[in-house]
Amino acid sequence: MSTAPKTSVIPRRVDALKACTQDASYKGIIMPDQLPRLSAAVVSIQREVTAKIDFFRDESGYRVMSGEFDALVSVECQRCLSTFDYDLHARMDLFLVISETQLESLPKECEGWLLDEDGEADLYEAVEEDLLLALPIVAYHDKADCQAEGHYSTGDFTEVVPDKKNPFEILGSLKLATKTDDSEEK
Ligand SMILES: [Zn+2]
Repeated sequence: MSTAPKTSVIPRRVDALKACTQDASYKGIIMPDQLPRLSAAVVSIQREVTAKIDFFRDESGYRVMSGEFDALVSVECQRCLSTFDYDLHARMDLFLVISETQLESLPKECEGWLLDEDGEADLYEAVEEDLLLALPIVAYHDKADCQAEGHYSTGDFTEVVPDKKNPFEILGSLKLATKTDDSEEK
């Protein structure tokens, strides 16, 4: 049904239930200005984000939205404070549900995504969320490229090792925050 040209813009909202029934696939770009949270998290998004998103039902009958995304962003080096380009790559496998109850009953290893009451998915939101998770917690140049190296190379500069946060810990709490809602009682 799609007559879209090669570099079509991915639609923001799709009927995800129908898309799964039809094994629909979307391939194209998302404009940087449609991703405000990612824009705020980096210095700039350098070009359109490319994305491929597939909808299907898996062997167990679960509806799945699976995708891969690439973005080029400019981030600030926390050592020398100049900016550099960073290739951002993310992928997702989201299990689509239409109620909190369904969300709760998903197997633990499955990441759920709650559709709105019309069964629609906001693709930009899902893509943005995964790109944000793929961002480095603290960004540094490669040492060879970092201007701070040359700047301090004459003296007895000792490198300050920043407090390293465990990225998985942060990732875990983010995903948990999107998934659990304990306020609901039976
Ligand atoms: Zn640097």
